[in-house]
Amino acid sequence: MSVAEKLEEIRKSIPDHVELVAVSKTHPTGLVREAYEVGQRVFGENKVQELVAKAEALPKDIKWHMIGHMQSNKVKYIAPFVSLIHGVDSLKLLKVINNEGARNKRIISCLLQVHIATESTKFGFSPEELLHLFESFNVRSLENVQVCGLMGMATFTDNQTQIKNEFHSLRVLFDRIKNQWMSDVDYFREISMGMSNDYLLAIEEGCTMVRVGSAIFGAR
Ligand SMILES: *Cc1c(COP(=O)(O)O)cnc(C)c1O
Repeated sequence: MSVAEKLEEIRKSIPDHVELVAVSKTHPTGLVREAYEVGQRVFGENKVQELVAKAEALPKDIKWHMIGHMQSNKVKYIAPFVSLIHGVDSLKLLKVINNEGARNKRIISCLLQVHIATESTKFGFSPEELLHLFESFNVRSLENVQVCGLMGMATFTDNQTQIKNEFHSLRVLFDRIKNQWMSDVDYFREISMGMSNDYLLAIEEGCTMVRVGSAIFGAR
């Protein structure tokens, strides 16, 4: 199947209220363009250098999402144009993004990454750390970032129940934060969870964004 055909299949399985982020990391710009030509506009990359190179080479109406681990000293390269940063995992990083937003006279949309998997290799706040952040700091006081929601990655496992439980825990945490601290801001509404192997489970558990790579572009 071509990229266009795979994309069409995946779109059919995703409800309208869920945004598809096409994860193009490691794939050449030619494949990104194939997806672009059948209407895909939101793409995800996990490395700053690759994201910047692709953004320069490809049409300007693409919305680029940074989905990978973000180092503070690299924020400046994507701050002028990035559409959403999914993996914010510290207050320090959020403040750096805020400063770069100010320098570029824009408000940068971010998601806070939560560690929901059992693997220790995945980044993110623990649920306790995230609640502590909201208790101790008003994220809305940062004028050049907008915290739009949460992002998480499930454990790499065949155990569907475990994956579902992990996604469910992110949904519950989102609802709690929304109710307690963000109920009056409509932009706090995104839950980014689900990849090629588990995005249908993520949709069942109430995500608003899925990040799908290999099911569209093939194996890396
Ligand atoms: C690579 C990646 C994806 C996409 O993974 P696939 O299994 O190829 O769909 C999603 N989210 C993050 C954070 C990634 O790094």
